[in-house]
Amino acid sequence: MTTTLMIATLSVEPGWAVGNVTLDDPAIDRDILLDTAGWPWVPGSSLAGSLRAHLAAAAPPADVRLMGRRPAGTPDADLGSDEEDTASPLSIVGCAFSPADGAPAAELEIAGQTAVDRDRGAAAPGSLRFSRIAASGGTLTVYLRHDGADDRPLTGDDLALISRWQPAIGRDRTKGGGRAALSQLKHGTIDPATPAGARTWLSHSGPGLFDAVATQVITGRSGDQPWLDAGFEIEDGLLTWDGIPGPVARSRQRLGRPLLPGSAWKGIIRSRTEFIVRSRYGETAACQAQASCGQCVVCAVFGHHQQRGLLAFRDSYIDQPREEPARTGVGIDRVTGGSRDALLFRTQPVAAGHLRLQIDKLGEIPPWVHPTIWHVLRDIDHGLIGVGSRTTRGLGTLRLTDPRGDPAPVIIPELENSAATEQAQ
Ligand SMILES: [Zn+2]
Repeated sequence: MTTTLMIATLSVEPGWAVGNVTLDDPAIDRDILLDTAGWPWVPGSSLAGSLRAHLAAAAPPADVRLMGRRPAGTPDADLGSDEEDTASPLSIVGCAFSPADGAPAAELEIAGQTAVDRDRGAAAPGSLRFSRIAASGGTLTVYLRHDGADDRPLTGDDLALISRWQPAIGRDRTKGGGRAALSQLKHGTIDPATPAGARTWLSHSGPGLFDAVATQVITGRSGDQPWLDAGFEIEDGLLTWDGIPGPVARSRQRLGRPLLPGSAWKGIIRSRTEFIVRSRYGETAACQAQASCGQCVVCAVFGHHQQRGLLAFRDSYIDQPREEPARTGVGIDRVTGGSRDALLFRTQPVAAGHLRLQIDKLGEIPPWVHPTIWHVLRDIDHGLIGVGSRTTRGLGTLRLTDPRGDPAPVIIPELENSAATEQAQ
């Protein structure tokens, strides 16, 4: 039996976490997994799904051959069930994260996130959740092992396929979280049945064994171009406050830089896309209930509770930000129309600056989506929809700086017939 040991080096961008619902901290809805030393921890099992999906997308699919039978509940789960050996020849042995710049500790941040109300296009009441995530980017070293029967060693094509893996780390991949790129795959084979192999096997352990064996290098593809890229400037103040309580509502920051999170982009763009689709093809053409329906063309692109979306919205850092002293506003009592002391609030928006919207595709995107999102961006440019918090109080107007131009009309072939029928009636 020939064993192939591999070391994949992944560069991880800031703003990621592996972990889910927390039980022991009432202030945090979703926590990050940490190891006993307090470092963000990535269990190999949390990456296995991303690797399997990558292998499954190859032509021909390589997931069953390399990783064994598909998990129950996934399409074609019985594929490979007639194989005698259903154990996974390829496995992720472990991962280790180290922050960029050799920082002594990983920075953590707490982020609030709200759902967008379908009807109002604003934050839905009661939907605020807090998550703890890693603010530090860095390097994730992933140790992989393939045990091939003599007639089924790992081939050069297999290694090339693995080196093209675009991993997703942890949760919220479609909302700016867990962006990563495989920069390098080191590999090598060892046969412990031979004297030389046995000597290496017995004289090293853990990461040292991988370092000794995996000495050949494949360079990965570095950061792909985004599927959509648009530049904006802040017209009259942008507040990306995410609900963290405090005396002043400040814009969300990461390592000292203000940012508009991908989740905010995704919320407004999805909401406006639904509006456009309904305006064009009728009320039933897009989600009607507050929860995603899972049936409409918008759910197919932006995802729903059972399926991840096809678009990943990056977090946007605000360049050349200009912050002003906190503004004090007075909340108006909706009943009496007078001011109420308890509603006094102070905000500190980013008064000026530039930012880029960048969207990556996670699958094949139907052709209607690109022009439709450009219509949404033009609506933002025209001031029809605001971005961030307190848009009803004059904040959040962005101007599109590049590229300019008129988007193509929105034509969704599968809805065209129903629209024609409606018009004929
Ligand atoms: Zn839907």
